[in-house]
Amino acid sequence: MCASNDENCELCEAARFTHWYYEDEICWVADCEVCSTPMVVWKRHGTEPDPADIEWMVRCLMEAAAERFGDEVTKVDRVMRQIPEHFHAHARDKNWLSRRWQDKPSKYSGVGGSRELLG
Ligand SMILES: [Zn+2]
Ligand SMILES: [Zn+2]
Repeated sequence: MCASNDENCELCEAARFTHWYYEDEICWVADCEVCSTPMVVWKRHGTEPDPADIEWMVRCLMEAAAERFGDEVTKVDRVMRQIPEHFHAHARDKNWLSRRWQDKPSKYSGVGGSRELLG
């Protein structure tokens, strides 16, 4: 599994700066540093996880999104704009574009638990 990781890849590095909602052997879910919405990241470097793994990751992402946004409509955005070579997906609520500029960033405080903000 480690052999498939790329040392120059930001997602493989999995730096813990923002809030982490969830982690298991397949993926982790944390706030994206750029958009500040929940993002699921596959733990392997590549673009084609098994369909079952994709299904699992989307489920983990939606759970984090529900925790964060409640009943607001959220959709899964699987366009990999910044890092096209490593599978990840964002949860978008309807305000995600403005959230990017207005929300205070969260900070890492352990996996799960309450979401704390910087500053
Ligand atoms: Zn993002
Ligand atoms: Zn990677």
